[in-house]
Amino acid sequence: MNEHDSERIAGMLEADGYSQADNAEDADVVVLNTCCIRENADNKLYGTLGNLKPLKDANPDLQIVVAGCLAQKDRDGIQERAGHVDVVFGTHNVHRAMDLLAEAKQTGPVTEIWEQAMVDEDATFPSALPAKRATDYAGWLTIQIGCDNSCAFCIVPAVRGQEISRPFDDIVAEAEQLAANGVTEVTLLGQNVNSYGRDLSLAARKAAEQAQASGEQPATAANSIKIRPQFASLLRSVGQIDGIRRVRFTSPHPKDMTPDVFAAMADVPSVVPHLHFPLQSGSDRILSAMHRGYTGARFLEKLAAAREVIPDLAVSTDIIVGYPGETDDDFEATLEVAAAAEFDSAYTFVFSPRPGTEAAELVDQFCDPKVVQDRYERLRVVINRFGLAKYRARIGLIEEVVVEGASRKNEGVLTGRTSHNKIVHFKAENLKPGTYALVEIVDATRQYLSGNLVEVTARATHRTTIPVAAL
Ligand code: SF4
Repeated sequence: MNEHDSERIAGMLEADGYSQADNAEDADVVVLNTCCIRENADNKLYGTLGNLKPLKDANPDLQIVVAGCLAQKDRDGIQERAGHVDVVFGTHNVHRAMDLLAEAKQTGPVTEIWEQAMVDEDATFPSALPAKRATDYAGWLTIQIGCDNSCAFCIVPAVRGQEISRPFDDIVAEAEQLAANGVTEVTLLGQNVNSYGRDLSLAARKAAEQAQASGEQPATAANSIKIRPQFASLLRSVGQIDGIRRVRFTSPHPKDMTPDVFAAMADVPSVVPHLHFPLQSGSDRILSAMHRGYTGARFLEKLAAAREVIPDLAVSTDIIVGYPGETDDDFEATLEVAAAAEFDSAYTFVFSPRPGTEAAELVDQFCDPKVVQDRYERLRVVINRFGLAKYRARIGLIEEVVVEGASRKNEGVLTGRTSHNKIVHFKAENLKPGTYALVEIVDATRQYLSGNLVEVTARATHRTTIPVAAL
């Protein structure tokens, strides 16, 4: 989400006549878009701001901007700690970036944090703003902002606000526009994508109830509107757009996952057979303390249902080790669920408290760091064992990959990505990023596959971004 916000901020700057500088020394504006999900975000921010201070002293016209969730959380504190910052804005007013830069130039440092997004405003969604996309053939597409859940370890609801879904037709229209520009892969983006649309149907029912009360609609109209997610319909609609070869989404929540989403993944060929399904813990006690809304058994049931209808499904996950109060038995339960789930890959984290979250208050239950490190390594052994087996199972298959670019380590070798989100290295020349090719897989490690080019299936057709020169 923050990366996409960064694309939008860069897009607004370009639309206003700025172009990308090679380094901070040459820049007129430096934007630090922060993410407080990451550990030590504040140390990194204030360290970087300290490094920028001599540049600001030498060039008072340089404008320094701090945006993102840490700005949302720390607010005035940022300019109190770093008086050379010109503009601070939060997660709900990214679209105000250019106005705030102009205002700061006129009147001096400015901090503007909105508590909530303005629902009726086009600019609520980052996708409604111009973008300088990091990749030309693939694009993020925001379908929802905020989150209505309350996972005890997570700062997102505090810094991103309540869940607001973007209108269905707007999303489809942007996907069509992306396809018209030669983008072939879209990633539907939200904090909890599979609850997408619940707020829209609720609003539609309220409107129908009001119309009914005023006699404008028959008495049955409101009751016919079901309050339910529309994510599966969205997958089907975006997936059938001409030119879109791959649809990804991140992240779903296991508690809200319903069979209609699996059916859409199975039915629509462009929706990739890859599911990121965040487990977090395998212990029912810890899952309950985290307010996750499912048990280990329920998680595995849903996964089995997905695998039953989606052939050759790849599954990745997130797991936290050492959540406050985690016992040996809790951790054993995590190992058991992780082994039963046979993940292709996992992002594993040692718990670290995020100030402002419920879990950060549980100081007296924090686990011994040595014990947690030992658990973390044991979990990695399990994850790696199943991950390697999944990667090795690809040997001998012919996979379609999208070319991402030249390998950083080996000349003459390209890097591509399969629909399973697995990296493939293969020898080839003169294939532009965004080209689709069939590759025969001949070797595998736990992190990547190696293969031989069989044939190109589709040439890249995207329009290359031409930077707008400063006027
Ligand atoms: S569903 Fe995701 S974003 Fe929302 S509170 Fe839980 S972990 Fe955070």
